[in-house]
Amino acid sequence: MDKGSKIFIAGHRGMVGSAILRKLEAEAYTNLVYKTSSDLDLRNQEQVANFFSAEKPEYVFLAAAKVGGILANNTYRAEFLYDNLMIQNNVIHQSYVNGVTKLLFLGSSCIYPKFAEQPMREDALLTGLLEPTNEPYAIAKIAGIKMCDAYRDQYGCNNISAMPTNLYGPNDNYDLKKSHVLPALLRKFHEAKENNVEQVEVWGSGAPLREFLHVDDLAEACLFLMNNYNEAGHINVGSSSEVSIKELANIIKEVVGYEGDLIWDASKPDGTPRKLMDNTKINGLGWSPKISLQEGIKSVYQEKFLVVNNS
Ligand code: GDP
Repeated sequence: MDKGSKIFIAGHRGMVGSAILRKLEAEAYTNLVYKTSSDLDLRNQEQVANFFSAEKPEYVFLAAAKVGGILANNTYRAEFLYDNLMIQNNVIHQSYVNGVTKLLFLGSSCIYPKFAEQPMREDALLTGLLEPTNEPYAIAKIAGIKMCDAYRDQYGCNNISAMPTNLYGPNDNYDLKKSHVLPALLRKFHEAKENNVEQVEVWGSGAPLREFLHVDDLAEACLFLMNNYNEAGHINVGSSSEVSIKELANIIKEVVGYEGDLIWDASKPDGTPRKLMDNTKINGLGWSPKISLQEGIKSVYQEKFLVVNNS
């Protein structure tokens, strides 16, 4: 990409899209295009066709998606499948129709089988059954990878796919019914501390293992891939370090300075037991993350809960 290339960031208000936007602005890319979902509903075929033919972007970061934590994925199963398929079908297809130079599609580590060999290499895709709690989301994302590849094969589109591990960072979702574990626990511990509540409820057994990546590290990876990677198939983007949910809860408890007790609610699902990415491929190309989990959690906590907003 040149600094003046016309770049469309789909989903620029979300955690991932906003991190990509910040990164592109910081790197002095000047010709950025983005629309709010009320101005452009990416699920709507006609609106997306009109947008692409009017704007003719050269590069597309496809970060728009319906996302959520374990409960949201499991509750809104139809919406996770429909919204994600519609968004990606429209954007990938119109990118082809309008001669986009290159498109980056973003997915998630939940595309891998529930019991995939760990760490999960890219070739573990479609080797087993998926984790049921997020199967609709995973099926949509797998369809997106295959669509990128099919358009590359049949039409010669330079589509690439990146699959990030569990993400956290600015603009995350803190709604306790929809969020992922990390923002949920930051909020729960913070509110418990503020209100002198003695116990905080944490879901599941605490045994599942998860790998976390700060979204600013992901944004750097996205830019790196857009500028250096042109292959079919998908590429993992992770931190290669994992913690149990219990360990995560203790780190967050310490960062927040909460001194009460944790109560484990076994009626809530654990989800997949472990999902650690094998990041050999992207590390071999020259990218690796810079923000440690401890540092990242501290900065997110500071920004979300401690900075006084005077505006
Ligand atoms: P997943 O990685 O797709 O399973 O999504 P989550 O980030 O939502 O959940 C990860 C793990 O954290 C699961 O085992 C959850 O049961 C557990 N967990 C513990 N407390 C919470 C919480 O308050 N909210 C969420 N979303 N997960 C929690």
